[in-house]
Amino acid sequence: MVQLNDKLRGLAPYEPNGGDHPIRLDANESFLQLPEGIRAEILDSALSVPLNRYPDPTAKQLCGAFAARYGVPAACVAAGNGSDELISILLQCFLMKGEAFATLAPDFSMYSFYGHLAECKHVEIKKGENFEADIDKIIEICNNECVRLLIFSNPCNPTGLCVPAGEIRRLVKSVSALVVLDEAYMDFHDQSLLGECAEYDNLLILRTCSKAFGMAALRVGFAVGNETLIRAVKAAKSPYNVNTISQIAAEAVLRHTAECDDAICQIVASRKSLQSGLEALARRIPSLKVIPSTVNFVTVLLEQAGEIFQFLLDSGIAVRYFAGLSALRITAGTAEENAAVLAAVERYFK
Ligand SMILES: *Cc1c(COP(=O)(O)O)cnc(C)c1O
Repeated sequence: MVQLNDKLRGLAPYEPNGGDHPIRLDANESFLQLPEGIRAEILDSALSVPLNRYPDPTAKQLCGAFAARYGVPAACVAAGNGSDELISILLQCFLMKGEAFATLAPDFSMYSFYGHLAECKHVEIKKGENFEADIDKIIEICNNECVRLLIFSNPCNPTGLCVPAGEIRRLVKSVSALVVLDEAYMDFHDQSLLGECAEYDNLLILRTCSKAFGMAALRVGFAVGNETLIRAVKAAKSPYNVNTISQIAAEAVLRHTAECDDAICQIVASRKSLQSGLEALARRIPSLKVIPSTVNFVTVLLEQAGEIFQFLLDSGIAVRYFAGLSALRITAGTAEENAAVLAAVERYFK
């Protein structure tokens, strides 16, 4: 009989909000379908893909399209099967077993998950009372506890708050650890360090096509950094990690700059409207606190978060519940979806 080892025994498959929910505001996906013209273009190119051949292991065209959109050198870009795969590779390969990695709390849960699988030592750095990241404290802990890799999201999932670029720059320059800066939501905000990625020898930036670009189904993400680091990422990843259909689709989308920018504007407008709706409710419901968002979701804190989460599910609306924070994270949706979630929260309090 095979015995599962310690690191596997307690694990369960990732199945968030299983079941059918007519309104899905739980995964921070885009509520927009790709424009008809781009879909047609993708389908057209897909028809001539040699499906009997392996994909391009370097995803050259795709990385080129990313580099062109963001104005970074193509040699500084590696593609992943979602940025999730890249997080896994970084924690597996840039750390030796037993070495220390640091995360902030609260933050994206996959960082500590993969660090645990890599059998590394986890240093968790708590954020302040209002979820602010104390940069001096982070620098001190990283340098005192021999942290080899620091990973965090900016803007932050789940809070939606963003640390200004200048503070991140100061952090990168003050630690010897490799800083993995997950900018999954930076397309909605303007504090990116992408433009300077090649200037540091200890910075890797992660980006994704799953949030702003409406391609969560295709699983495409990027790591960006100086050539030495990116070469190492490419050497460590599995050779054919991004399939050909995803490569051509994401390349096509990234080259349609105007359509991408338009989609981002629509998503930000939706989030602003969701946020004002929630703030209006908060003025009448003193226990409801809205965290000011810089991204495509709004996180609210309230004592009854667990009950409201269930009430929303029963109303056909899935949002993300964080029990430890007593918080709900609500993805910006269509005008109708935003109205439905606001109405349901209001109904709960009646
Ligand atoms: C959604 C998300 C990701 C994962 O993106 P994929 O490219 O779809 O794997 C990574 N980091 C953060 C903070 C996210 O919220």
